[in-house]
Amino acid sequence: MLVGVPKEIKNHEYRVGLTPPSVHELVAHGHKVMVQHNAGADIGLSDDQYLAAGATIVETAKEIFARAEMIVKVKEPQPVECAMLREGQILYTYLHLAPDPEQTAALVKSGAICIAYETITGPGGGLPLLAPMSEVAGRMAIQAGASHLEKSKGGMGLLLGGVPGVAAGHIVIIGAGVVGTNALQMAVGTGARVTVLDKNIDRLRQLDLVYGNRISTLFSNAHAIEEAVLSADLVIGGVLVPGAAAPKLVTRSMISRMKKGAVVVDVAIDQGGCFETSHPTTHAEPTFVVDGVVHYCVANMPGAVARTSTFALNNATIGHAVALADKGWRKALADDAHLRNGLNVCQGKVTYAAVAKDLGYDY
Ligand code: NAD
Repeated sequence: MLVGVPKEIKNHEYRVGLTPPSVHELVAHGHKVMVQHNAGADIGLSDDQYLAAGATIVETAKEIFARAEMIVKVKEPQPVECAMLREGQILYTYLHLAPDPEQTAALVKSGAICIAYETITGPGGGLPLLAPMSEVAGRMAIQAGASHLEKSKGGMGLLLGGVPGVAAGHIVIIGAGVVGTNALQMAVGTGARVTVLDKNIDRLRQLDLVYGNRISTLFSNAHAIEEAVLSADLVIGGVLVPGAAAPKLVTRSMISRMKKGAVVVDVAIDQGGCFETSHPTTHAEPTFVVDGVVHYCVANMPGAVARTSTFALNNATIGHAVALADKGWRKALADDAHLRNGLNVCQGKVTYAAVAKDLGYDY
């Protein structure tokens, strides 16, 4: 199969659909890969590295969309890309269609086979092509929080781990899923005191077994959240209620009674956020202050570490990319119910129930 990788064109998107090792994998399976000139240049992946992996380099996205049988990307296609998609062409990327009627209509019109990373399921449950980005965001949350506790960034001027003779800070993590456990791992490394809250008691049991008395686990309810948040220097919000907006677990009143110069990192902001005072921010201006508390609410945290994110994403996407190229989309989807769950639009029809329902398509 001829596979194409255009350079991402969404604002401030530096990730790339395939890394050189992924290209190598496809080429080893007998496929051809075209990569757009400089597609990975911003994250240190040069055209020479792609050439060495067996790709050919082409100048324009137009050439890739005109010739490739499968397009591998990261972000949803922008209008100019949707217009270049062809009937019968496979598009393999993040789509997030439910809130995006324009893109959905364009994909329906294209006649392409559109497989969304975010709805592909895994044998062990969960969404394995979303998990790497939660891992990245969880780990980054502590880094971002630590940095914004510095005076110059608006924080109270606190070093999370303290120093000998000076008390360490207190990190509170709400939600112990993928984001929360990755944040926890980094939080423990800082030397701070760490409290984790979740409604899932089994998750707390697992964490207790791993970390023992190095952390405190608390069953999540309004009382426990209030008590933890009021003594915190850094709060990470990583809750998710599948298919719903994030619950506002930290209220405006709690924020107003937190320590001045404390930092909250609302990772769940892409689902509306779990702090009542949150609103989405960007990497260009990541924070704002409410009642003396610094809020970091960047909706696409992994974008800041685009190189790590690209490799993490490729680890999760390459297996299905190879299956699609080896078998063609019909057989690959027929053989794998989890991959089939990724099919959102197929040859002019919306094929994912939630998207069809939300946007009023026949299903
Ligand atoms: P996950 O499903 O792995 O974990 C969510 C956890 O929240 C679960 O353990 C669940 O039990 C817990 N939870 C639910 N209700 C709770 C409550 N009331 N109190 C405490 N815990 C509660 O999800 P995840 O992969 O960790 O993702 C978390 C959020 O982070 C999602 O909204 C996701 O979209 C978002 N996210 C944001 C970015 C970003 O760049 N901002 C990046 C990746 C993920």
